[in-house]
Amino acid sequence: AIAKKEAGTPQSVAVVGAGPVGALAALYMAQLGWRVSLYEARSDIRKEQVYHGRSINLALSTRGILALRGTKLNLDEEVLREAIPMRGRMIHDQHGRQSSQAYGVHGEASRWTYINSVDRGKLNCRLLDAAEKHPNIKLKFGHKVVHCQPDLGALVVETGTDDARETFTISHDFIIGADGAFSTIRRALMRCTRMDYQQAYIPHCYRELTIQARVDAEGNRSFAMDPYHLHIWPKMSYMMIALPNTDQSFTCTLFMPQEKFDAIRSQQQLVEFFQQEFPDAYELIGRESLCEEYFRNPLGSLISIKCKPYHYQDKMVIIGDAAHSMVPFYGQGMNAGMEDVMILQEMLLRYQNSLSDALDAYTALRHDDAVAICDLAMYNYVEMRAHVHSPVYRARKAIEGVLYRLMPSYVVPLYTMVSFTTIRYSEATRRSQRQGRWIYIASGVALAVTLGLAFAATTISLSHHHRRHRQQAPTSAA
Ligand code: FAD
Repeated sequence: AIAKKEAGTPQSVAVVGAGPVGALAALYMAQLGWRVSLYEARSDIRKEQVYHGRSINLALSTRGILALRGTKLNLDEEVLREAIPMRGRMIHDQHGRQSSQAYGVHGEASRWTYINSVDRGKLNCRLLDAAEKHPNIKLKFGHKVVHCQPDLGALVVETGTDDARETFTISHDFIIGADGAFSTIRRALMRCTRMDYQQAYIPHCYRELTIQARVDAEGNRSFAMDPYHLHIWPKMSYMMIALPNTDQSFTCTLFMPQEKFDAIRSQQQLVEFFQQEFPDAYELIGRESLCEEYFRNPLGSLISIKCKPYHYQDKMVIIGDAAHSMVPFYGQGMNAGMEDVMILQEMLLRYQNSLSDALDAYTALRHDDAVAICDLAMYNYVEMRAHVHSPVYRARKAIEGVLYRLMPSYVVPLYTMVSFTTIRYSEATRRSQRQGRWIYIASGVALAVTLGLAFAATTISLSHHHRRHRQQAPTSAA
């Protein structure tokens, strides 16, 4: 039965989870001719007043954009029309002074040298609208998958409310688990494969706050800070960031160790902390809004998950956060999940005669990349909160930029490779380590030239001084 199943032939597939990755996967599979049922535990977010997802806005970059483009439904253009380009980081210091660090090395304003702040809810809605229009896709909101029997391709699904709950079992030829970090499908996969699994919570949690738009006397709205940057308040052991929204507000995310959050128990403590640590942000958020949001908004945890394999025979596969949850500091979680969908499609097309070969190839190809981006995301947390201020970091970035201009085939900044290209994450890591040598050599040359010039300048000035001294000596003797 397994051998007969051919990748890409019109059979039934269950996609579990209608987040950005699951909704995109449903579209790709439908376009390959599969009959798709998309199961989502929550109700339809398009009918909700407020979106209760993980983060309100997030950074969409090249991998995500290309995956949207791959649907050939103009989704990339639609999403980017509602996005705000962020051309660099804006670093806020203790005194509220700001300094800009561009993402693109050449300073060009191309779509491929900036990241885009998008509304997570709207992006998800666009994908669901497109999925709903596709004749091969059936959307099933309020359908929670509670159990999965991979060998039978069976899902046990729960529907209804607490008062009237109903459970039924349904079979599909193939199951795609896109049900997020706490995936039920991954749990089932663990039971039928020898899965290596690793998870880590970092000590830091996050809480979201808002900088509202400025409104003048005539009711005109404007941004309270430069909207074309990702704003960062680095504090060494913690930090706050802010991304712009199209309603001219900013969503701030405060990342701190849980004990630090727990230590702030009263409004007075909160206000003193913000006045001391984030004086400019405090002014922009405002005391009332800060106190209200801080004590109302939930504290989110940050988890990193690595596992292998991602599939079981030709029965099921996990993608997105279900396969590789990462801390959010490279802004790649969703982008990587969307790229998963493209790579899965590529494997299904490459191994048209065998779904299990396609899935074997998928795990083999994707695992190294998922591990690489999970590690890079962890590393970037230290960079964002502790290094961006340092002169050594800035000097290294400047040297890297010069080398990129001089020899772009040898040196490409790591951030550029990750955010603005589709170079495999694992290859980007390796290249960055290799080119570290060039930067090391260039730094040595720059240091030698600087010291040489300083030495030459000192020698010249000393010899001038001696000559003047010798010329003056007989005069004074006279
Ligand atoms: P999810 O978004 O978690 O969606 C899973 C879906 O499955 C949900 O709708 C859920 O209801 C449903 N589901 C779960 N269990 C079941 C079940 N049993 N049955 C049916 N349905 C189920 N990424 C970026 O690319 N850029 C960023 O700037 C960025 N910023 C972030 C900031 C923060 C603070 C955080 C926490 C994350 C950030 N991310 C970012 C990561 C990004 O949010 C995730 O990588 C992305 O949401 C993963 O998408 P997904 O579809 O795989 O999973």
